Amino acid sequence: MMSRFILLLLISALGQSVYALAQNEELAAQNPDFRTLQPTWFQAKEPFRVIGDIHFVGVQGLAIYFIPTPDGHILIDGGMPQNAPLIVQSIRELGYDPADIKILLNTHAHFDHSGGLAALKEMSGAELVASEGDRSALENGFYLGYEDVPWLNAPPVIVDKIIADDGDVTLGNITLTAHLTPGHTRGCTSWSLTVEEAGKPYEVLIFCSATVALNRLVGPPQYDRIVEDYRYTFQKAANWAPDVFLANHPGFFRMDEKRARQIDGDVLAFVDNTEFPMFISRMEEWFDAALAQQTSEHGQSDN
Ligand SMILES: [Zn+2]
Repeated sequence: MMSRFILLLLISALGQSVYALAQNEELAAQNPDFRTLQPTWFQAKEPFRVIGDIHFVGVQGLAIYFIPTPDGHILIDGGMPQNAPLIVQSIRELGYDPADIKILLNTHAHFDHSGGLAALKEMSGAELVASEGDRSALENGFYLGYEDVPWLNAPPVIVDKIIADDGDVTLGNITLTAHLTPGHTRGCTSWSLTVEEAGKPYEVLIFCSATVALNRLVGPPQYDRIVEDYRYTFQKAANWAPDVFLANHPGFFRMDEKRARQIDGDVLAFVDNTEFPMFISRMEEWFDAALAQQTSEHGQSDN
């Protein structure tokens, strides 16, 4: 009985590692040209004030946020490694000195949001504040779970301070609160703050992400307990209804549409507390569908 049990364990362990190896080798063999695949990740976009002190300094397809304070500035995300000069240029266009950035934050350690952080840190000497879950990926410049896939790498960047769930980051008159929303990455971090617009306060959420993207959910997963992490995030965010929902991809929160209304004179174009609940329930439906599909594909590959 015992030897049969051990044999089954061995077969299952081998099966899993062969499956993972095949998938990583397949990915590693690819070398996609993101400039062709995702041209909007490289296209400049005019910077603008979103609401309160929050400014957009990203590119067409990647949202990056700049928050100036009298004591120095905060930047959330660094975009692709090639985006750093565009971000610097946008901050200058807004009338601020990028060298005065004191704090760098990151929604998550994937090359399209963390890639520019190393260059921006070197340029400004700012302190990088990030979660423990994403630290290894940031500091080693890899995509957690695809360490051997070079085209998913990002320039390594040292984390100066670890932020815990519900931890605050304060600079000048601005305080941001970290909300760990793991799954998309192990340390996926959403940020909230209160801003004032037209004499009234508004709660803003900058959401990390909850898409499955390239993540393996089963056999073996991208990282331990990834499915539990997604579930935790969906449960945690189920009751969130921020006045202003922002994210690191403009398409997640229909930024261009709102920006057009803002240009037309609607100063509260970004205020809509019904949007995030709809977004997060759609994310959960997509997650459930991806989990079902990966479970069935993995089951087939084992047979
Ligand atoms: Zn990502």
